[in-house]
Amino acid sequence: MKDYTIDITLSEARKEKPVAEQLQFGKTFTDHMFIMDYTEGKGWHDPRIVPYQPLILDPAAMVFHYGQSVFEGLKAYLTKDEAILLFRPDKNMERLNRSNDRLCIPRIDEEFAIEALKQLISVDRDWIPTAEGTSLYIRPFVISTEPFLGVAPSSRYQFIIILSPVGSYYKEGIHPVKIAVESEFVRAVLGGTGTAKTGGNYAASLKAQQVSNLKGYSQVLWLDGVERKYIEEVGSMNIFFKINGEVITPSLNGSILEGVTRNSIISLLKHWDIPIVERRISIDEVYEAYKEGVLEEAFGTGTAAVISPIGELFMKEEKLIINNSQTGELSKKLYDTLTGIQTGKDIDSFGWVVKV
Ligand code: PMP
Repeated sequence: MKDYTIDITLSEARKEKPVAEQLQFGKTFTDHMFIMDYTEGKGWHDPRIVPYQPLILDPAAMVFHYGQSVFEGLKAYLTKDEAILLFRPDKNMERLNRSNDRLCIPRIDEEFAIEALKQLISVDRDWIPTAEGTSLYIRPFVISTEPFLGVAPSSRYQFIIILSPVGSYYKEGIHPVKIAVESEFVRAVLGGTGTAKTGGNYAASLKAQQVSNLKGYSQVLWLDGVERKYIEEVGSMNIFFKINGEVITPSLNGSILEGVTRNSIISLLKHWDIPIVERRISIDEVYEAYKEGVLEEAFGTGTAAVISPIGELFMKEEKLIINNSQTGELSKKLYDTLTGIQTGKDIDSFGWVVKV
């Protein structure tokens, strides 16, 4: 790790903290933020923790025009004994650098980024909500700041971390969602930016999401961009199916984002000796499994919901009802195990949690 010293300026005006029941995802931010600059020739410099504040950017800053930006998402949890736990932050910083590489953004020092994150959380530790199911959502991101309208990699960047207390994703307990298979729009293509966590992918996904919401579905199931045949992801989550006792998840084919939750679930299933395969899986195969009565469970996986069981899949003008629209046994077990490890209730035999 490089030897940077983080300069800390504490906020004089502290904001009022929201009550746990009123927490909405991503709407409230803590009193401080971390920020660091990059200048070509100088590298990353001036790491600092400052009061949470608006950014001053030139209207020509490249991020506004060509979208050269990347981000991450992870959570911190407060345990019963008031320890603060992060879940696999090394994986997120590793992915941030993979996204940086794809977007021609200079790499950050992963170890230092985790150190900066720990210091920021320590400064704002009173903001971590304590109620069951709540957590502190962490959003590290990098934007290109050079004022220049040429299409090229920027010569200046800012790496910023902001924190947001979030409520329980499942206020009434884990429950299945309705998903529509998307046949018109695609999220990503091989050779594109699907494997990177960059704003453009999310901008490109909004239209399909809006159309499916209007039809009463909460997310879309994305198919591959070429043949529109193979399953990629669900909303902004990875996807798993349990067919005839075997768990299948699409292999990382070059257009799927590798989720930290996905990776953890594969490890858990292997540990439990439950058959798990990463391979190409077509929507027709899922349809046939359903017709044969062997589609046992389907679920999405991601930091926000951890596990999101799929109760209904709309495709070919037909509604496939999975597991009687109930949360499956495996989905529930995975949810309980992962959240147990993340919140420090259960033993972490994988060495996944990191104390702040
Ligand atoms: N796919 C996409 C497109 C996502 O945005 C996310 C959320 N980061 C995921 C999958 C799940 O990743 P993770 O388990 O790391 O949250």
